[in-house]
Amino acid sequence: MSDLLMKLGRSPATAGIVKMLGLPHPVQLARAPGGYEAQPFAGKNVLLARAGNGYALASLQAAVLEAGATLLDDRPSSPEERLDILILDATCCTVPADYRALYDFFHPVMRRISPNGRVLLVAALPEEAEDPVAAAAARGIEGFSRSLGKELGKNGTTVNLAYVARDAVDRLAGVVRFFCGVQATYVSGQAVHVRSRVPAPAGLPFEQALKGKVALVTGSARGIGKATAERLAQEGAQVVCLDVPGAADALHQTCIAIGALPLMMDISSPDTPRRIADFFREKFGGLDIVVHNAGVTRDRTLANMKEHYWDLVVNINFAAIGAIDALLLSEKTLRDYGRIVCLSSISGVAGNFGQTNYAATKAALIGYVAAQAPRLATRGICINAVAPGFIETAMTEEMPFMTREVGRRLNSLKQGGKPRDVAELVTFLSTPGAYGISGDTIRVCGQGMIGA
Ligand code: NAD
Repeated sequence: MSDLLMKLGRSPATAGIVKMLGLPHPVQLARAPGGYEAQPFAGKNVLLARAGNGYALASLQAAVLEAGATLLDDRPSSPEERLDILILDATCCTVPADYRALYDFFHPVMRRISPNGRVLLVAALPEEAEDPVAAAAARGIEGFSRSLGKELGKNGTTVNLAYVARDAVDRLAGVVRFFCGVQATYVSGQAVHVRSRVPAPAGLPFEQALKGKVALVTGSARGIGKATAERLAQEGAQVVCLDVPGAADALHQTCIAIGALPLMMDISSPDTPRRIADFFREKFGGLDIVVHNAGVTRDRTLANMKEHYWDLVVNINFAAIGAIDALLLSEKTLRDYGRIVCLSSISGVAGNFGQTNYAATKAALIGYVAAQAPRLATRGICINAVAPGFIETAMTEEMPFMTREVGRRLNSLKQGGKPRDVAELVTFLSTPGAYGISGDTIRVCGQGMIGA
């Protein structure tokens, strides 16, 4: 849907008035219309350094060079030269004095960062630290990263942090490509954990990253699910779109556009897990990616909440996901090296007035992926959750004007996200290259202030 303030701010006739009134002037965020490219950083100026004796530098260097970047260390750079991507290996920060490296790296270049720039910090996993101070020093990088995101967000720049285990630095390539790539448009202020708990997949394709994979996206007749189905198909996956029979027309249109197959069923019906499993076994011999996107809200304060609203939300948003996964996993219909992505929500992170039912189910998914991840690791399966913030969909369009206006500005990028932005993160987590990340919940919220 349209963002009136953005339109006014961009029109020569009204831009002056917007400025004069001191209204927010959100930058036009860069988005990729196409799929992944072999060298997405070609033509980009990248500043890469390590603090002290960081252990991730060589892997980071290899990742950015393979992605086609120009490393500014390689040649003298003029003070006017813009920086598109900044990466700091801060894995050696183990005592307070090491923080000086953060200042020394970023302070001189803060005014040279391009609009829609990308910053990635890489820190040691606090749980691997040798002593409490070292653990604290690693954890503190997150505070720095989140604050930097708030300072740079108005320019469309995103700032994220990857905690990386010592034995998982070779898993950073996909992480660098996503978090430093155009696809991370609305992902900022996040901290992901890169570990070696899941065995490496056979191939790590950068282009057509999902070729040969079979994917199920629930609730894909519209909104985020539809955008996700489109994005997965764009990356080469054979997609199956599932939605309720009442959404058949919209579902068929989505399917025709992307060569997907439709499945019409209610995910909360008792026979749905069996029907899904049988469908994939018969058609494809199994499946590789499950995106649990279908979800509903039935908002009421708890005092006014009807029993059936409570049950409906719990059944669709939580119980159905567990039941579908239980069957797909026990019968191994979800193949080895599979991916599961659950759609959580900021409400699940922070809670929300009138959403006790919804927030409980979305928080449950955060706990679910964390608990499932170690259990699925030996099979090479990664499971993660994605928590959208304010996304411009039919749902948010129905909000009262002021609530919507406040909702979409309360983040570092000063605007709402698009369904495609959520689809980008879901797609990344579905790729072989995301094999270092499992059990995490990552927000797509433009670094929303709520619950941050
Ligand atoms: P939406 O309402 O536009 O689409 C949801 C789709 O799920 C619909 O097509 C609907 O028919 C389908 N669905 C609902 N119940 C179903 C069932 N029982 N069986 C099968 N399909 C069913 O929602 P959206 O805004 O695109 O959100 C998608 C997901 O992202 C949801 O899980 C939602 O909770 C989550 N989310 C959205 C936002 C946002 O800002 N839009 C924010 C946070 C989280």
